[in-house]
Amino acid sequence: MKLAIIEGDGIGKEVIPAAIEVLDSLSLDVEKVYLELGYGKWEKTGSAIDQEDIYILKGCDCILFGAVTTPPDPDYKSVLLTIRKELDMYANVRPIHHLPSIKGIHERIDFNFIIVRENTEGLYSGIEDIGSDISTTTRVVTRKGSKRIADYACKLANSRKNNLTIVHKSNVIKSDKLFLDICRQTAIDAGVVHRDELVDSCAYNMIRSPWNYDVIVTTNLFGDILSDMSGALVGSLGLLPSANIGDRYAFFEPVHGSAPDIAGKGIANPIATILSLKMLLEWHGALAEAAIVEEAVEAALNMGVCTPDLGGKNTTSEVGNLIARYIKTRIG
Ligand code: ATP
Repeated sequence: MKLAIIEGDGIGKEVIPAAIEVLDSLSLDVEKVYLELGYGKWEKTGSAIDQEDIYILKGCDCILFGAVTTPPDPDYKSVLLTIRKELDMYANVRPIHHLPSIKGIHERIDFNFIIVRENTEGLYSGIEDIGSDISTTTRVVTRKGSKRIADYACKLANSRKNNLTIVHKSNVIKSDKLFLDICRQTAIDAGVVHRDELVDSCAYNMIRSPWNYDVIVTTNLFGDILSDMSGALVGSLGLLPSANIGDRYAFFEPVHGSAPDIAGKGIANPIATILSLKMLLEWHGALAEAAIVEEAVEAALNMGVCTPDLGGKNTTSEVGNLIARYIKTRIG
């Protein structure tokens, strides 16, 4: 496997090395290609990502990504948006479920749902007109974009409890009616049991009764917000992994961002990134290795080895190191 590795900014520089130690412990045949992208690169070169980077990324099988800082500068080209668009990775898949020994906000831990977020359009279209008195961002919803994310979500629902929730705001934002109609029709055609919810109502219900969800499909910004919110359900944003999937390329990253408030302190939780690596291994077909990574994460948490966001005292590298050592012992 030819793997592009992007640490990025902030805690990306801490959680990626921990995940790479875990990857190395598996002794897989991996060619690593490191790229420097993000705010740090922008400060040095005036560009956070350029065409040469895209060319290199297209030559790799998949990408493991840490996090980047995106400043509110209108001249700054977002790295994440650029990669998702250029490599056409339209489905952002974010599984939300409990890990053993970690307490979230509920006593009940029997929830396990997946947010499937449209990744290439919506309010992240990049079509903006920024002025001093009025600024606009165009919200794009297309038949093609909605259909392929609906297909992805229905296929996923078919492989799970066959239950789809379509999240939108079509009563106020009329562009969402197209998204809703296409998702509904796709679910009917695929034989998926479905319902729809307004995004504000869904945010409330998801916190109150997360066990009522199986697969959620939604547009770009709503998916972004709902998945960060779900971090509270499982105990920390530092536990949530994600995958960005297209027909040809895939890239894997923690749900969290570069967390400038804790960057450089060695206390970032690396588990979201290590579980993103697990999703990468599954995508690559290395199912046994993916299962061992998950087992090792559970073993570390059961031993009480965790970072301060989970009430622990361990550093980022200690958590990564223990998980890697567990794997080495396990595979001999
Ligand atoms: P960005 O602008 O890059 O998205 P942010 O600070 O706005 O950064 P997040 O990075 O998602 O957003 O962080 C939100 C909160 O969650 C912060 O208080 C951060 O410290 C915390 N957090 C995020 N990731 C982790 C992690 N891996 N371990 C511990 N805490 C985390």
